[in-house]
Amino acid sequence: MSWVAALARPEIVGLKPYEHAAWHPDLTRLHANELPWRATGDESRVGLNRYPEPQARALIERLAHLYRIAPEQLLICRGSDEAIDLLVRAFCRAGADAVIVCPPTFGMYEAAARVQGAHILTVPLVAEQGFALDAGAVLDRCTSEVKLVFLCSPNNPTGNLLAREAIWEVVKGLAGRALVVVDHAYIEFAREDDDLYRQLRPPNLAILRTLSKAHGLAGARLGALIADPEVIALLRKVIAPYAVPQLVIEAALAVLSPAHLRTLPGRIAQLCEERGRLRAALVQLPGVREVLPSNANFLLTRFEDPEAALMRAQRARIQLRDARGYPRLADALRITVGTPQENDRLLGALA
Ligand code: PMP
Repeated sequence: MSWVAALARPEIVGLKPYEHAAWHPDLTRLHANELPWRATGDESRVGLNRYPEPQARALIERLAHLYRIAPEQLLICRGSDEAIDLLVRAFCRAGADAVIVCPPTFGMYEAAARVQGAHILTVPLVAEQGFALDAGAVLDRCTSEVKLVFLCSPNNPTGNLLAREAIWEVVKGLAGRALVVVDHAYIEFAREDDDLYRQLRPPNLAILRTLSKAHGLAGARLGALIADPEVIALLRKVIAPYAVPQLVIEAALAVLSPAHLRTLPGRIAQLCEERGRLRAALVQLPGVREVLPSNANFLLTRFEDPEAALMRAQRARIQLRDARGYPRLADALRITVGTPQENDRLLGALA
């Protein structure tokens, strides 16, 4: 038995997946109970009266090319949120298995585990070291019930990258024992090449990517999981057959066209420059204790009176994310980098 089959839920390994209508776009479709004509007002490219291609090949190939991996290593889903959910559902038996999360971090890992009834073990990031990953502590905590370890880099809400060496230590230390899921939702803003993963590609490493952040497609809901082909094949059995809608496939293909992709580095550079300007201005404000350095498109900011800062922003009709509920962040608000005008409005409101 492979390590993936040994790690995953036996019911999922043995599952005979639902068989969706076969995909042969050049044949006449009298097999899927669709309406034979377009709805009035349907302006999509191929017609929304038809079910979309499951795991659309052209989109998978475009993303595989972008991330420089093989198409067999990629699953597309409704945002990376769905990939997190699929992983927990496929690997964790309710009431028996566990995931490790490293707070303060993105809340969906824990939420998905709770929905599935999996146990949640926490290994806090080290606040005194800029919220660094404690690889040794993760390895110590990883008992046989742990199936998944979620690491977020750059981390939401703190904005820091986790050290590659520490991630690597966890991946190597858990080879054959647990799947390490590295969430790279914000990696484009770190302007760091993640070639380490491509070069070594250990089978127990999975990467989450999304078009929601740097690519500006949050409304489309398209994420990707990069993992060993056996993990991808397993999750394909669990994902809904038509998870990614036709309009989303079309929108993503358009945004990922070579011409549009060429504009991406410039837009990321612009955002990062504005992040620097906003941070420099925030640290000058009275009542601001600290603005954490960020490799993402947000700035975690500590205030002497966070409640007052929230109220001031609210009066200016600006929403900030309250981060006070996270451990070790009782004075912090998370501020997304907006346009220069939006950021100026915020600075004016907080001043
Ligand atoms: N990972 C992290 C760290 C995030 O902050 C978010 C969105 N807030 C997601 C994943 C989910 O992104 P999406 O589902 O839009 O791909």
